Amino acid sequence: MQTKLIRADEPTALADAARCLAGGGLVVFPTETVYGLGANALDEAAVRSIFAAKGRPSDNPLIVHIHDVRQLDGLVSAIPPMAQRLMDALWPGPLTLVLPRSGAVPDVVTAGLATVAVRMPSHPVAQALLRLANIPVAAPSANTSTRPSPTTAQHVADDLWGKVDYIVDGGACDVGLESTVVDVTGERPVILRPGGVPKEALEAACGMAVGTDPGLTKPDAVPKSPGMKYKHYAPRCEMAVVTGAHIQEGVTALLEENTGKRIGVLTAGPHQYANAAYTVDGGGTPEAYAHALFAALRDMEAHGVELIVAELPFGEDGLAPAVRNRIRKSAGGNVIET
Ligand code: AMP
Ligand code: MG
Repeated sequence: MQTKLIRADEPTALADAARCLAGGGLVVFPTETVYGLGANALDEAAVRSIFAAKGRPSDNPLIVHIHDVRQLDGLVSAIPPMAQRLMDALWPGPLTLVLPRSGAVPDVVTAGLATVAVRMPSHPVAQALLRLANIPVAAPSANTSTRPSPTTAQHVADDLWGKVDYIVDGGACDVGLESTVVDVTGERPVILRPGGVPKEALEAACGMAVGTDPGLTKPDAVPKSPGMKYKHYAPRCEMAVVTGAHIQEGVTALLEENTGKRIGVLTAGPHQYANAAYTVDGGGTPEAYAHALFAALRDMEAHGVELIVAELPFGEDGLAPAVRNRIRKSAGGNVIET
C-alpha cells in the first residue's frame, strides 16, 4: 500500500483523508492523547484492516471516535445519568466511556462484548476530520502492537509506513498518553485504564466516588478492559524503573552494576548521572513526564541505548497513576523499589 504523509494544514489534506475514511481506507490522525489509526467503525472490512496493520490481537476491542453526541444514537443502547454528567463536563477530551452497545456496531469493533467504548477527542484536527467524514471512526493508537504509542507523525511512519493510506501530521500530541477508559454500565463509574483525565476530575464531574478495576493492580485478577492484559508500550531494549524514597541512589547503583552497557536515563527533573550514555529529562510533574514518556523511549532506541533506566517519583495526583501504569508495562514489570 502506498502511504501518503500530509500536513493537516495543507489545503485539501483533511478533505482527502475524510474521503478515504468514508471509502473504507485507513487514516492516521493526531489526537490530544496519542496518534490514532482510524477506519469507519461501521465497515467491518475496514475495521479488520486496522487489526492487520497493527498486528493487534482480535480480542482487544477498539475505541469509537465521534465529533457530535448525536452520533451516540447509532452506537449505544442507553446513556446512564452518570455517563451524561461525565460527557457534559469532560467531552471533548481524553475520556473514553464504556456503554451498552447498539446492534449497529460490528462485533469486530467490540471483540464481541455487550459494550462499546466511545470517545470525543478535543484535538482540532481530529474534530475537523471526524466532522468532514461524518462517520464514527474506530481508532486504536497508531503503533505496531506492543510498541510505545506514537506521539508524533514520525513515530507513526516508523511503525506503519506502507500499511496505511494516510498519515495526517498535526505536530506532537499534548497529553502524550492514552485516554482514561471508564465503565459506566454499573452502579458507579469504574476506571478500566488510567489515562489523560485524572480520577479527581471524574469524581468532580459526576458527583460520586469513582472505582478502579481491581484487575489493574491485583496480580491474580483479570482486567475488565481486554487490552490491559497484553504486553504493551515496550521499547526494543531492556528497561528498568526505579521508584521509592531513594531513586537517585537506586539509579546510580544500577548504572554501576551495568557499566558494560550503553545506558539511557529518563529523569524526572534535571538530574545528571556520570555513567549515563544518554539522558532525557521527562520533567518534574506527572503531566510533563506523560508528555515526554513514549517519545523518550523511541528516542533512546534511536540512540542505540541498550538499557533504559527510568526515574519514577510521582504520588497519586493528576496523571501520576496513568504514568505509573504505562511505565510499569513498558518495563515489563521490572520495577525497583528503593
Ligand atoms: P487503544 O485504542 O490502543 O488505546 O486501546 C483501547 C483500550 O480500550 C484497550 O485497553 C481496550 O481493551 C479498551 N476497550 C475498548 N473497548 C472496550 C470495551 N467495550 N470494554 C472494555 N474495554 C474496552
Ligand atoms: Mg494502544
